[in-house]
Amino acid sequence: MAKRNPRFDPLFEPLQIGPKSTRNRFYQVPHCNGMGHRYPRAMAEMRGVKAEGGWGVVCTEECSIHPSSDLSPATLMRLWDDSDLPVHELMVEKVHAHHSLAGIQLVHNGFEVANYVTRLPSLSPSNIPTENFPHVHARAMSKTDIHDFRRMHVDAALRAKKAGYDIIYAYAAHGTMTLLYQFLLSRYNMRTDEYGGSLENRVRLLREVLQDLKDAVGDSCAVALRFAVDELLGSEGMQKSEAEDIVGLLAELPDLWDVNVAAWHNDSMPSRFGSEGGQEDYISFVKKLTTKPVVGVGRFTSPDTMVSQINRGVIDLIGAARPSIADPFLPNKIDEGREDEIRECIGCNMCTSGDYLAYPMRCTQNPTMGEEWRRGWHPVRIDKAASKESVLIVGAGPAGLEAALALSDRGYDVILSEARKQMGGRVIAETSLTPLADWRRVADHRTYMLSQRANVQSYTDSALTTKDILETQATHIAIATGSKWRCDFSGLQHQQTVPVSDNANIVSVDDVLNGNYPKGKVLIYDDDHYYLASVIAEQLASTGTQVTLVTPASDIASWTHNTLENEHIQIRLRELGVEIICNKKISRVDDKKVTLACVYIDTKSEVAADAVIPLTSRAPQDTLYNELLEQQDEWNDNGIKSVTAIGDCYAPATIAMAVYAGHEFARTLEMTPEEANFFRRELGLGGE
Ligand code: ADP
Ligand code: SF4
Repeated sequence: MAKRNPRFDPLFEPLQIGPKSTRNRFYQVPHCNGMGHRYPRAMAEMRGVKAEGGWGVVCTEECSIHPSSDLSPATLMRLWDDSDLPVHELMVEKVHAHHSLAGIQLVHNGFEVANYVTRLPSLSPSNIPTENFPHVHARAMSKTDIHDFRRMHVDAALRAKKAGYDIIYAYAAHGTMTLLYQFLLSRYNMRTDEYGGSLENRVRLLREVLQDLKDAVGDSCAVALRFAVDELLGSEGMQKSEAEDIVGLLAELPDLWDVNVAAWHNDSMPSRFGSEGGQEDYISFVKKLTTKPVVGVGRFTSPDTMVSQINRGVIDLIGAARPSIADPFLPNKIDEGREDEIRECIGCNMCTSGDYLAYPMRCTQNPTMGEEWRRGWHPVRIDKAASKESVLIVGAGPAGLEAALALSDRGYDVILSEARKQMGGRVIAETSLTPLADWRRVADHRTYMLSQRANVQSYTDSALTTKDILETQATHIAIATGSKWRCDFSGLQHQQTVPVSDNANIVSVDDVLNGNYPKGKVLIYDDDHYYLASVIAEQLASTGTQVTLVTPASDIASWTHNTLENEHIQIRLRELGVEIICNKKISRVDDKKVTLACVYIDTKSEVAADAVIPLTSRAPQDTLYNELLEQQDEWNDNGIKSVTAIGDCYAPATIAMAVYAGHEFARTLEMTPEEANFFRRELGLGGE
């Protein structure tokens, strides 16, 4: 095994955090995952795998301390009474099994929550509408409420200590998400008593809670503070000058400062809008004001960047949520001198959709994420092949590449054949658009890993026909030939095709992705509702093209609310002068003119357009697959036992789903259908 590069030694030095010591500087900061109390075994296994992969500290997601902070329908953790303890004990046990520290982020969400299930009135510094249900107001906390709130923290902390946690957080970050932060913000804290008004008064509750936690559990647990130093709202919100005063006031009280920017869409900045280490300028002041360890995040995947942050005194601990999701074994890979094998996070934020939509998180780069317990998938270990049979994979998009890699890990002989000059499929095509550059890592990581494998033969510029495939003599065939964008406007909104005159200029998305950008005034019609229409709009507009973005939805790129991209997209497109038209569908397309129809009432309008790019739906490229099925009687003579369609060619979906499909194919090859479809169900432990 290769040895660690001594340059990275600072990442492996132990550090004292209050009464605890962490074995290294890899710190998985609290992050939601859509599992929490509803899928507790899956959550615990996932955290344990990260500890196994070398993260010295592994934290929970936010953990509600009381029924008056009921985050339903989101799926997070709870510590309302002792009946929640088994879930926590399970997670702590999994983390401790690998000698890592377990941290818990206690939270009360104040006016963020409307308490859908518990039906309790929401709490707030002042009387204002709740975020989750704006018609429902949170009530201003009385002195008794404040006393009770402090008690809730202490009770939860004592339970957390009982569960075995090493680090217990007070949480005042992510903007309006937490009650402790709501008290700090003068735009929400309009109190006239000793908890409102001056900065000292607004900080009072946070100081009291920190002191309460220290008194209650500080003898054996570290007390951490997660604090957002800037909301990026200018003088409207928290910014550096005030944050400096707050850090100055509380400097030595917590045992650890976990600092970031708010709100969440700025903290977990999509790669399209921010790069690795992007928070440094905001957080670097903190270490100058405290002697306590400081952890910060920045989608760190490069060990050189990590070491630089530590050596330059920016932070002491490398905080990570997304990099630890994309590669739970990132620390061990650095430790073993295998940093070139790190599966780097691409900053797509598919993972955050698990929180928004309350399902177990998935990751574009890591197909095992969320499946560690349910399907028994480990990010590093995989069962060896049942036989020595060979597999031909046709198409090297994300599905084909991942299938090849996982099959190679299992010990199969793999032939990977790609029609184009480059491996990567849609990933290479889409990352030709500048904003998506980091997403190339999906292809780059797998292409590099495959180049190291003796049992994989890869061919580019090799479009296979059905005849070629039948003659290859491989035992198993995977067809991963992807999908193509339709040009006839059929999709969610239009089940029938739209009338288009002969001289209209319709440009397919695939043409654009091949670099053929239309000239003149371009209308992009988005009935896809995810990222790509907005990326094409951004690319064209930033090179001077006049762009109109039309969508039948009431909001552009509406699904990107789940990936924290939407607010950034709204700003970017407006800054670039893109004209945005919502609630309109296409009625017909003529030369230099598009007729739009309102989605609600029968009104029409016209927009000038020299070219139209429709993003409505994709057609699976399944001709090869269907032909092979038709010629099933020839399989036996050619030694073929199975033909499987995977990824977009089976059902067009996200890149994450294509990677998952490739991985699943590799994991389940030669299994019976019962074995292949098996998953464990969460019964009994979590629940409401
Ligand atoms: P997925 O997301 O399912 O992986 P992609 O569209 O990204 O799908 O990738 C499919 C890949 O398959 C593309 O790179 C395409 O060039 C390749 N391909 C399509 N047809 C053939 C073929 N007949 N032979 C080899 N490769 C093919
Ligand atoms: Fe990174 Fe995307 Fe995976 Fe999230 S889903 S960890 S952003 S690669």
